[in-house]
Amino acid sequence: MSDATDFDLIILGGGMTGLTLGYHLSRSNVLHAENEQRTLILEPRNNYTRDKTWCYWQHGATPFDEAISHKWHRWTISCNGQTHVSESATTPYVRVDSAKFYEIGQAAIAGSDSVTLRLRDSATKVLPSKNGVSVHSQREAFQTCRVFDTRPTPIPKGVLLQHFVGWEIETEVDVFDPSTVTLMDFALEAEDIHFFYVLPLSTRRALIETTHFSTQVLDETTYAAEITDYLQQRFGLSQWRIKHQEKGVIPMPRQAPDLSDRPHSRIVPLGLHSDTVKPSTGYCYPHAQVQARRQVEALFSYPGSHAIAARSRLSRWFDAVFIRFLEQHPQRAGEIFLRLFKQVPSDALTRFLSDEAKPADYVRVMLALPKSTFILQAVRHAWDS
Ligand SMILES: Cc1cc2nc3c(=O)[nH]c(=O)nc-3n(C[C@H](O)[C@H](O)[C@H](O)COP(=O)(O)OP(=O)(O)OC[C@H]3O[C@@H](n4cnc5c(N)ncnc54)[C@H](O)[C@@H]3O)c2cc1C
Repeated sequence: MSDATDFDLIILGGGMTGLTLGYHLSRSNVLHAENEQRTLILEPRNNYTRDKTWCYWQHGATPFDEAISHKWHRWTISCNGQTHVSESATTPYVRVDSAKFYEIGQAAIAGSDSVTLRLRDSATKVLPSKNGVSVHSQREAFQTCRVFDTRPTPIPKGVLLQHFVGWEIETEVDVFDPSTVTLMDFALEAEDIHFFYVLPLSTRRALIETTHFSTQVLDETTYAAEITDYLQQRFGLSQWRIKHQEKGVIPMPRQAPDLSDRPHSRIVPLGLHSDTVKPSTGYCYPHAQVQARRQVEALFSYPGSHAIAARSRLSRWFDAVFIRFLEQHPQRAGEIFLRLFKQVPSDALTRFLSDEAKPADYVRVMLALPKSTFILQAVRHAWDS
């Protein structure tokens, strides 16, 4: 660390991405003490509580695997009266308990003398200069060599959004099949792309989510009415207890942020509002795990400011073309997802959806899509880019 700086690195936001980065930094600082990155994480919250359910297909190990509470090897997708069941013996769909995740992240950082997590403080101004960055918080000002910025930013109008509300409910009778996740159960006669998601935690407990892909979020009563109707009609329920609720708005931009084109080389935007989230799926957790590990490895390998993109150019291109398709043909979304899950072997599709695709997986996905429509969207995308 130079004499003129307080920290080598400041991370703005100690949420999922910030704590993952903090975890890897605390470990790497011990392994590479000669190149220690003294780090401050600024986080406004007072304390951590369970606030989200993170699910993903588990392609590899992460340091947070102890926070995985459930695993499923089978999932379904339903549209227009048809249901397809997918299975994978090797790649389960897993659920991470966010309370446990925060505990693991905090414990690793608490055990480090080079990474500091400062709660109840938030960044108010971030001013880049030629040699570093000044970060002003509510309480203090700091000078640092570089910043990883995971703060949320406003989503521009017109961007496709994945917006959802979920209720974790408990019932008096056995209702759910704990062996199978309902990934997408498309609503009939929806005006936008609308489906339900059911994560069965036991025969009497499940997270039920109503999810829309559109440019406008809805009011709370609409989401509540949708879940209520679904519980009544799909499961014949008249009574349940809501144990936990969550909601989210995830940007699905056609042109996802490009880290190689960031305004300041010393400020690297990461997380849900940068390139970490996969725009065509809304999954962010598995990508943050891979990106944070690689980002920290790069810090110790390349002393200069180096930003590690979450995905390849090919994957970005597929996302862009797919989102363009969803925007132009929302009424065909269910049919296309069903087609993908039916025609592409399960492990190839989950690799594709998780940015772990092999060349043959891309070919399989392309063969499963309606060629003329996708070629048209690809040409339009190339024309606009
Ligand atoms: C309810 C919900 C469920 C989700 N489920 C899944 C899922 O199943 N699978 C999946 O892959 N993804 C899921 N996601 C998407 C994504 O994984 C999460 O949103 C994840 O938390 C994003 O991580 P992040 O670090 O970008 O943002 P966050 O975890 O939100 O962290 C950002 C942090 O920045 C802090 N902050 C805000 N302002 C400032 C400031 N001025 N200065 C400093 N810090 C600031 C915030 O307090 C926050 O802690 C879900 C999202 C939501 C909302």
